[in-house]
Amino acid sequence: MGSAIDVVPTPQPSADAGGLMGPNIAGLPAAQAVEMVTLQAVKRRASDVHLVPSSDSAKVLFRVDGVLTEIVVVPITLHESMVSRIKVLAEMDISETRRPQDGSFTLGFNEKSVDFRVSSIGTTWGEMMVIRVLDRSDGVLSLEEVGLENMSLHHWRQLLALPYGMLLVSGPTGSGKTTTLYGSIMELTKEAGNIMTVEDPVEYRMENLNQIEVNRGAGIDFASGLRSIVRLDPDVILVGEVRDAETAKVAVDAALTGHLVLASIHANDASSSIVRLLDLGIERYLAATAVAGSLAQRLVRKTCPHCKIPAELSAMEAMAYEAEMQEPAGEFMMGRGCNFCDGNGYIGRAGVFEVMAISDPIRKLIAAGASGQELRAQALADGMVPLRRAGMVKAQEGVTTVGEVMRKVFFMD
Ligand SMILES: [Zn+2]
Repeated sequence: MGSAIDVVPTPQPSADAGGLMGPNIAGLPAAQAVEMVTLQAVKRRASDVHLVPSSDSAKVLFRVDGVLTEIVVVPITLHESMVSRIKVLAEMDISETRRPQDGSFTLGFNEKSVDFRVSSIGTTWGEMMVIRVLDRSDGVLSLEEVGLENMSLHHWRQLLALPYGMLLVSGPTGSGKTTTLYGSIMELTKEAGNIMTVEDPVEYRMENLNQIEVNRGAGIDFASGLRSIVRLDPDVILVGEVRDAETAKVAVDAALTGHLVLASIHANDASSSIVRLLDLGIERYLAATAVAGSLAQRLVRKTCPHCKIPAELSAMEAMAYEAEMQEPAGEFMMGRGCNFCDGNGYIGRAGVFEVMAISDPIRKLIAAGASGQELRAQALADGMVPLRRAGMVKAQEGVTTVGEVMRKVFFMD
């Protein structure tokens, strides 16, 4: 962790919905410009800040609710001095402008402290920088708050109550897997004994949890961190990501020797996670025995509650809805755009989930080398609510829109 400093809030130009920092930042010294950009990023709930140079100017962009938006254009000289300022804060080498570098720093905003993870690399136009904003002030969300509900929540809770076994959480990058893992761990902390995690990075520091952070410089990766954890008498283990054969093997061993192991894995749906584990070299009979459940998820933007109005579906949307739900499309809500949602009709995001409990028939299929489709078919026969249907239910309830479900769940962007 780099230096921790307090930011004295500076007088803001109209900083609220719609009104951005505008051109005012261009005349500021680098330190103040950085201060204003980071403060705005936190205020506007940005997950990432991009500083991107071009020939004679540079852009500042924010990613909010998954969407990258240009915030302001600055002269290239200011870009360069802002990048240097951030590298000083993050304890990075300011003389190195081409090689990729990582660093981090913490800023205090009134009561709360926010971590910033910085990555930089030299591009043809100069140094590009991406800053991940880790605002821990919202705390850890409950499973209900992340949008897990009904039978899927019930099934996932049954799986979390198991004394041992492996629970996989999958979805594309940025689909909220970490939030689900933390929400799941929260439900365990009372009676679960020694809960240990290996994460990259640690996104929330939680009480009653022993968290280890991947630090390749210090020789800690997922596999070596996990091997150390297993020797420290854990009851529950959280693996930030299973992405190599060795991590997969240690995690499966731990699940087979009496530990509850929660792990995220890169796969598109609940059945593909099992196939992914096999692709990482896990024997079929071991996977069949170790894995107890698999959850897959996506994030959809939530319809803005301040400007939502009844709206007609397009022909394509109605067709998709009716095909999935086997019922005629009724009335839906959509945001028409207002100051609260920056005019885009959505504010915040919610998870869409499918939860596959590994039944005896599924276990037999895994051991027999069945395909992902065969596993999925059995899960559906067992009563799994699939992602698409879960998404359409959320659209029907007015949480999101059919268009958003089609973009994020059917096609994935
Ligand atoms: Zn709105």
